Amino acid sequence: MLAASATAFDRVSAPAVDMAARIPVASPNMPRAADLAPYLERIDAAGWYSNFGPLVLEFEDRLAARFDRGATVVTVANGTLALTLALEALDLPRGSLCALPSWTFVATAHAVRMAGLVPWFVDVQTDEGELTPAGLLAALPEAPGPVTAAMPVAVMGRPMSPAAWRAFQDATGVKVIIDAAAGFDAAASAEVPVMVSLHATKTLGVGEGGFIASEDPVFLSRLRAMTNFAFMGDRVSRHVATNAKLSEYAAAVGLAALDQWPTTRNRYAAAARHLRIALSDTTGVTFQDGWGTGWISSTCVVRLPPGTTDPVEASLTASGVDTRRWWGSGCHVAPAFTDCPASALPVTEALAACSLGLPFFSDLGGDQIQKIASALRSALAGLKS
Ligand SMILES: *Cc1c(COP(=O)(O)O)cnc(C)c1O
Repeated sequence: MLAASATAFDRVSAPAVDMAARIPVASPNMPRAADLAPYLERIDAAGWYSNFGPLVLEFEDRLAARFDRGATVVTVANGTLALTLALEALDLPRGSLCALPSWTFVATAHAVRMAGLVPWFVDVQTDEGELTPAGLLAALPEAPGPVTAAMPVAVMGRPMSPAAWRAFQDATGVKVIIDAAAGFDAAASAEVPVMVSLHATKTLGVGEGGFIASEDPVFLSRLRAMTNFAFMGDRVSRHVATNAKLSEYAAAVGLAALDQWPTTRNRYAAAARHLRIALSDTTGVTFQDGWGTGWISSTCVVRLPPGTTDPVEASLTASGVDTRRWWGSGCHVAPAFTDCPASALPVTEALAACSLGLPFFSDLGGDQIQKIASALRSALAGLKS
């Protein structure tokens, strides 16, 4: 089963070593067919397959109930489109700048470009790799043009402060959309719009999907229209839009995943706790602040001592422990974005050089945890001698 998951993840670069013994870097946690059956039967009975059917609306209500202060949720066909359409729904001047960290998955930067804005890469501030409102405020005077939007990112799903971004938006007029793609567990406030991905690799997956939570009904109705040909309760296309609706089948998976969420969350938290304990006497391994204790995600990214990531990664690979640099060297080096303006990015470059994704999934076994810990210990010890 693990080998099958590893194959699905690594179709392009299947390692040459015996797959059965390898520990894959990730393994999705999805509802099983039997869990879906009651929801699929509801679809059959209703004969309603897409276009804001009863399962999608129920799924959106249950997602919204996870947020404070009466936030509302709009589902979208995937997280990247959700970011693109959220920016489009703001109706900002084409070619204006959207500030974002380079320390993110490339989807964030793709969404900005697809929405007709120019990504402006700004350095992150904290050890945790987050672009903060204070950091962006300090960078704004150096912007190479008018900045109309900002897209800060929840680093590997860690909690953010939408209230602080709301204050930034009120003070500067720069519209903020938070990319909390991996932040299903921690996202609880939508004082500015927050996007959560429902991709199979995230903690609550439907396969492909995403949603935006917001407290602004005007913005949400524009976003909804962006997902449905700019129709607003009729068949009149008011502006250029697309089709990015979630189907009833995807909502069925989402409802089954929500039913199981308390158990899923406990399993991720237990796996994280055991991995932290196994590595507690290993110096040089720093977990994300609060990871697995205050909040959970489907990835484990640690920071290693400067200059050790390449040899540690090679040693883990040789021991059958797969790793991944989830965010590579940052988006600014990707050919799709090298022509975009960027401020100096020393913190991003340092983080990219010392961050490494270790194997992590909800059913990570005790023997796998011991293997990861001992491989990491001997990799680091080997560097000192
Ligand atoms: C996963 C991810 C996305 C993209 O979400 P999809 O649903 O896969 O399109 C965007 N941003 C970040 C930070 C992500 O981790």
